[in-house]
Amino acid sequence: MTTWQPADPEATRELGRRLAGILRAGDLVVLTGDLGAGKTTLTQGIGAGLGVRGQVASPTFIIARAHPSLGEGPDLVHVDAYRLQSLAEVDALDLDSSLEDSVTVVEWGEGMVEGLAEDRLEVMVGRPRGGLRDADEVADAGARTVTIHAHGPRWEGVDLAAALGADPAG
Ligand code: ADP
Ligand code: MG
Repeated sequence: MTTWQPADPEATRELGRRLAGILRAGDLVVLTGDLGAGKTTLTQGIGAGLGVRGQVASPTFIIARAHPSLGEGPDLVHVDAYRLQSLAEVDALDLDSSLEDSVTVVEWGEGMVEGLAEDRLEVMVGRPRGGLRDADEVADAGARTVTIHAHGPRWEGVDLAAALGADPAG
């Protein structure tokens, strides 16, 4: 388990760009955290780091959006599972090919997508304790904590702290 504290949205994006540097086709990243924590912001950085087409955004109606790679790297498939309520709905997204050929990033996937892949990064995005109190302030500027747990043989021996480095500056 490794934790970073990006001080602002740009620092969170930079962390995502660095993360993209170690991601390859077939990798799954599961993002957990409250609304406004910074999951999509982190995914924007991953998309930028992979060099994919299209703006990574919070989907309103779309649950899964594919961002084709503009270069040699893998495509990004960005899933927002917020509106999904059952494993059957996750199955219906048919992520199998994405989980083989693309980098798959799932927001709100905890408790639903763990069964999809033994190898995965579980990323928790949150606000430091003792921080903001009411919901209006959740999207406020300020530091976040980003904690990454690596699961499965794919990540054995990968030193995330070394690979991603110290806290990114904004
Ligand atoms: P989520 O996808 O988790 O709901 P978003 O990434 O869409 O969250 O939104 C995060 C909000 O918090 C944005 O408005 C962003 O500008 C703001 N923010 C403030 N500080 C940070 C930070 N350090 N990292 C990420 N987002 C931040
Ligand atoms: Mg989001």
